[in-house]
Parts: sequence; structure tokens; C-alpha cells
Amino acid sequence: MLTRTRAIVLKNLATGEADLIVTYLTEELGLIRAFAKSPRKTGSRFGSSLEPFSFVRISLFGKEGTGLLRITGSDIIEPFQEIREDLKKVFSLAPVINLTERLLPEREPEKKSFSLLLLTLRHIRDSGPEASVILCLYYMVRFLDLHGFSPKLDHCTGCSRDTATYQISQGSLYCAECASQYKNEGSVSIRISEGTKRLYYALLKWNIKSILRIKVSPAILDELIQLLEGHIRYHVIQRGSPPLFHLQQPQAFHQG
Ligand SMILES: [Zn+2]
Repeated sequence: MLTRTRAIVLKNLATGEADLIVTYLTEELGLIRAFAKSPRKTGSRFGSSLEPFSFVRISLFGKEGTGLLRITGSDIIEPFQEIREDLKKVFSLAPVINLTERLLPEREPEKKSFSLLLLTLRHIRDSGPEASVILCLYYMVRFLDLHGFSPKLDHCTGCSRDTATYQISQGSLYCAECASQYKNEGSVSIRISEGTKRLYYALLKWNIKSILRIKVSPAILDELIQLLEGHIRYHVIQRGSPPLFHLQQPQAFHQG
């Protein structure tokens, strides 16, 4: 079976003497891992098309549904070189890649996630490094929503009153009174401010150009990052796994 599809490189991993296993989010096959023979040897025809974030058209060869696919062709559509050259952009994208890779099953079509990632990468490339965190949060909030994993931050799920307490295990807000009714062992809650709720719903509903005009304080960005970290680790990925946001220290996110 030979397949051609547009794809975005999520990451690559060296294997053997000079081979690579490349993880892609593809337009036609969703998440896939594919094998490139000796791309690191001189004279490789793949060039930089196997580097993270490259937007490419690939040809794959492999048996239907089983085994590792082999990359037989890879042509760059948009290199996204500007992203790879900016450490802040690369660091900001780490949780995006991590979440995408951990949530999606392999070889199931994912056209909406593919379009969302491409849109996000184009805006990260075209914006200054200071916008990369908010653009990555935009992707993560929309991606969770696409897959039915959104946290609900509007009001208490029990009684509809306003409250600032997010119960991680419930994936939504609960006031103290309602929370006492289901109280289960080890239930962890976090307080979130009105500013964080507003930012979250802006990321969920506004178009990307309007989102780029939002001025957000570092405290609010941190609060949203903490919330997403807790939520994703509880609901999406295994709790024992390493942190999604590797660089939670404010200085890593907020210094230019
Ligand atoms: Zn309530």
C-alpha cells in the first residue's frame, strides 16, 4: 500500500545507526509513526523535511493497518524554519506536541486537529515570540474541545451559582456546598479567577486574530496553565507521566 498525504512533523527520534522514526499528524491518516532509512547520512534526499514542525507532503509505504510505515518521499510545503530557530517558540510548543501525541489514537483521520495545528503554527511563525504561549494555549483549549475533554468553567455544575472553585476530578466548577455532596477521597480543587475564566472562553470562542490582541497578565497565564496541566493529567494522560508543561516557572514563559 502506498499512501500520499500532507503532514506536520511532531517529532523525530534517532534509531539504529542513522535511521529516524518520525511522528506526524497527517491530514488523511491522523497520527502516525513512520520510519526513514538513513536520512542522517550525507546526500539524503529528505533534507530538513523530517525536522519538527515541517509541513510536508509525504509518501508512505507499508502494509494496511500493521507495522511501521516507511517514508519513501517527503517534500516541504512550508518549512517553519523560523519556529525551529526560536527557542521560546519551540519550548512553548512542547506541551502542544505532547498533548497531541498522547491523546490521539494512531491511524484515525483527524482533519480538524490537523487544520488547527497548521493554523496555530502559521500564527506562531508570523508572530513575535511573546505571542507563542497564548497561541499554544489557544491550540490546547480548542484541541481538548474537539475531543470532548474541555474543562467547564462557567458556573457551579450543581446549582448554577458563581464560584471560583474548579474540581479537577469533575472537570468543572463546584461551589463548596455542592462539592460536599459528592466529596470523594483525594478530590483536588483549584481556585481560578474571573480573568482566567474570561481568557479561557476567549480562547475557546474568539477567532485567532482577536486572541492575538488580548493583553494577559503573567498571573492569569500561569493560572490557566496550572488548570490545564491538572485537568489534562487527570482526564487525558496517565497521572504518573511527566509534566506536560515542562517549563512551568514563570520566568521561562514570560521573559522575552
Ligand atoms: Zn453549587
